[in-house]
Amino acid sequence: MKVVVLTGAGISAESGLPTFRDAAGLWEGHDPMTVATPEAFAADPDLVHRFYDERREVLARVQPNAAHQALARLEQHLGEDLLLVTQNVDDLHERGGSQRVHHLHGRLRSAWCTSCDRRHDWSNSLGDRPPCPACGQPALRPDVVWFGEMPYGMDSVHAALFDCDLFVAIGTSGVVYPAAAFVHYAIGNGADTLELNLAPDPVSDFAQVRQGPATENVPAWVEEMLR
Ligand SMILES: [Zn+2]
Repeated sequence: MKVVVLTGAGISAESGLPTFRDAAGLWEGHDPMTVATPEAFAADPDLVHRFYDERREVLARVQPNAAHQALARLEQHLGEDLLLVTQNVDDLHERGGSQRVHHLHGRLRSAWCTSCDRRHDWSNSLGDRPPCPACGQPALRPDVVWFGEMPYGMDSVHAALFDCDLFVAIGTSGVVYPAAAFVHYAIGNGADTLELNLAPDPVSDFAQVRQGPATENVPAWVEEMLR
């Protein structure tokens, strides 16, 4: 059985990471347009670096939860028949035990050199303009996908969706992109679909929707899969 799982902010919220936007449309007090676009970075790199440096520091203080750990157990069972795709830039799936995680929107703990195009695992600050370990230029930026930039590796995700037997969305609304698009690819291939989300989605296209906290619903679903 080939399975594609998409996770969003809802799975990390239960570890204490705030979701991308609050009710006022702000991300940790910032308008995303001022910290998460290439134009914002060009206009005020100090602000953008400070913002992501803080996010990286917060990430170091939180832990993966039972939902992340359950998906790692599923990977042990399914091996390469599981593709775990996440919209999250945190590393809680990896720290929860998952070996292969496709980060659509990049990773907080990665730095991308705009001079030589190389990427480096990165846990420290970028705001003090450290040199790129490869080329020496002080040209590192957060390796996250900003508004107006292309998500990473969409071709391989689409290929997996066209080839899967089951598509599951966790902690991300089934009615907004990318889950809403992904579910159509999966349905087009005849796959089953399941959404695990905190809030109900009255017009979701998923065949099955289970409402509740990810830390309860995900371990329960994985147990069903392993049986
Ligand atoms: Zn470089």
